[in-house]
Amino acid sequence: MKILIGTKNQHKLAEMTRIMVAFFQDKNIELEIVSLNYFPKVKEPLENGTTFLENAQIKAKYYYDIFQIPTLADDSGLEVESLNNEPGIYSARYASNTKGNSTDEANREKLLYRMKDITSRNANFVCAMTLYDGKVFISAIGITSGKILNQEIGENGFGYDSLFYSDELNKPLGIASNDEKDAISHRGKALRSLLNKI
Ligand code: IMP
Repeated sequence: MKILIGTKNQHKLAEMTRIMVAFFQDKNIELEIVSLNYFPKVKEPLENGTTFLENAQIKAKYYYDIFQIPTLADDSGLEVESLNNEPGIYSARYASNTKGNSTDEANREKLLYRMKDITSRNANFVCAMTLYDGKVFISAIGITSGKILNQEIGENGFGYDSLFYSDELNKPLGIASNDEKDAISHRGKALRSLLNKI
């Protein structure tokens, strides 16, 4: 099976590759992964959907239309309950005043600032994963729950990981191993659920 991973985010690419390789190895199915790293000139699509699912579908279709290879794409982010589910679909550009993404550091700094007087710190990471083969969209949603920490812990992962205490692992994500994160992450859940549908 040949699948293009439609993301330029190297962290997502690494996680999606790990999760897929483990899944296909388990089932003894051959897998060829094509990454956008071979095509640095290809631009990213405009993410103008209003939900994670819409954005995942936009990305999968955009890259499929260019490469004509079944394409997997994810749209994901952090929803903080006491911030009305901010930053949500705007997680990558939370600290930015433009439509462009801001750095992970700036986003974490903004989140810590917004949470400084808030004691109720429940949050979810959400991931919509879509596979598009030119005919049908297959999608799945994954969610993992936790709390926003008062300060960063650990350096593993990316994005908001070092500010997230995982309820399922009972530890901060910033000190979780790759295997631990993949087992409970929104991305791991969404991707395995999608692959089980095909
Ligand atoms: P997207 O590329 O529009 O889907 O943006 C996803 C953004 O959500 C990332 O840039 C991160 O800020 C955040 N995010 C998504 N998944 C994770 C994760 O697994 N850990 C930490 N942050 C994440």
